[in-house]
Amino acid sequence: MKETPNAYQNLALQPLAGDWRNGSSGRVLTVTNPYNSESLLEIPLANRADLDAAFVKASEAQHAWAALPAGERAQVLYNAVQIFDQRRDEIIDWLIRESGSTRLKASIEWGAARAITLEAASMPNRVHGRILESSVASKESRVYRRPLGVVGVISPWNFPLHLTQRSIAPALALGNAVVVKPASDTPVSGGLLLARIFEEAGLPAGLFSVVVGSGSEIGDAFVEHPVPALISFTGSTEVGRNIGRIASGGDTLKHVALELGGNSPFVVLADADLEQAVNAAVFGKFLHNGQICMAINRIIVEEPLYAQFCERFAARVRELSVGDPDRIDTAIGPVINQRQLEGLITKIEKAQAEGARLLVSGEAQGNLLPPHVFADVTPDMDIAFNEIFGPLVGIQCAADEAHALSLANQSDYGLSSAVFTSSLERGTRFALGIRAGMTHINDIPVNDDANAPFGGEKNSGVGRFNGDWAIDEFTTDHWITLQHEQRHYPF
Ligand code: NAP
Ligand code: MG
Repeated sequence: MKETPNAYQNLALQPLAGDWRNGSSGRVLTVTNPYNSESLLEIPLANRADLDAAFVKASEAQHAWAALPAGERAQVLYNAVQIFDQRRDEIIDWLIRESGSTRLKASIEWGAARAITLEAASMPNRVHGRILESSVASKESRVYRRPLGVVGVISPWNFPLHLTQRSIAPALALGNAVVVKPASDTPVSGGLLLARIFEEAGLPAGLFSVVVGSGSEIGDAFVEHPVPALISFTGSTEVGRNIGRIASGGDTLKHVALELGGNSPFVVLADADLEQAVNAAVFGKFLHNGQICMAINRIIVEEPLYAQFCERFAARVRELSVGDPDRIDTAIGPVINQRQLEGLITKIEKAQAEGARLLVSGEAQGNLLPPHVFADVTPDMDIAFNEIFGPLVGIQCAADEAHALSLANQSDYGLSSAVFTSSLERGTRFALGIRAGMTHINDIPVNDDANAPFGGEKNSGVGRFNGDWAIDEFTTDHWITLQHEQRHYPF
């Protein structure tokens, strides 16, 4: 491996329509470290004209890119994987400073983003057309699998690097151009850093633009723009619903892939290994402070284990270290910003007012919110019914397996889920009863393999990421027929 390269410079510049330049809005975004409020970067924001230029250029650049041999597109992705390795520390450092990720979480996220890049490198050679039989004599019927054209990506701040890369790496590999609007909390790790990596990897200029601007200001223009054929959005259900509405009801109809909120149940049946279930619950809830769409949102324990589980879980949670995310032994770092913190404090107050029994608590300091655990939670309480996205959780008691399943399904969301049992057959039966895109037996709901279908049911969204499913999502079918001999028409 080559020696570590110099860190990327000038990260306030955006790759807009083929040039690295400042946004033209005349306004500036200050990017801050959520742990110590240190100002990291001042980014002149893009406006609608920048956005338009990015889409138009993407559309021009896409044709030549799609026409390249598959191996040449694959090579750019392989180069990007190598750069991920060479710049591992630099990437992880940005995740810690910009998104408040602990060192552990940042390393996991780096690994996930690298894995989807490697998976995407194989995609150009995995696109298959089909030859069909035809009901017309002498007709040859072919289905070509083609890139969509330009893909618009809007990504969130919680796993900014990975949740952006899992759209852009497959999209680019499959011959599309991409314009990204990263979250305003994480423009570097959610876009600008990736653009530097792809440039270094040899991606032609103009194929990938990053537009840094506020969702509430340029979001609608982004989704309404006539160029993108697909909007790949990851974020809240509220914003996602609006995007779905615009994309299917505006002047230019387009595909949408929506990866929205979750409310993962974590179910412990009476025959589970208690210690293993407790360990899983602690990690599956508190990794990145619970700011993960797949994070455990509800713990449901069958009655015979309930009291013991509550006691053991609370004891383990009290031991979690809260503090500087850069320290290797920190489990709980800062939440992303003051607004999220305030929302979480309101949720804690609500849980107490609704009668949940507080087992673990602590005072917030800056954006550091110590973990909170509530027992005797019922499914109608806010902490159970709504997505939390923070270091709090409620435990519910289920009378038996059927009750546990009914509690697990009492949600408008259906992203991930988990069940603990010593019988894998019972676990499979239970899993098949949950209406969700993903269920993990004897593990946490937070799982993401670059080759396995990732996505949700109900209000958790539409579409699937990763592997063959990403190939479906970022390409479309074109039916082409060839009439070999003259056809005789009825009139
Ligand atoms: P959000 O508002 O949905 O933000 C996600 C992305 O959408 C950001 O890039 C945001 O840009 C953009 N956006 C905001 N308003 C938009 C609009 N009207 N049109 C187009 N794009 C728009 O989510 P958030 O406020 O950051 O987080 C709130 C909640 O979202 C969390 O509590 C959680 O429930 C959910 N969430 C889910 C995931 C997930 O992986 N499924 C990830 C993060 C958050 P700006 O940053 O500029 O506003
Ligand atoms: Mg927002």
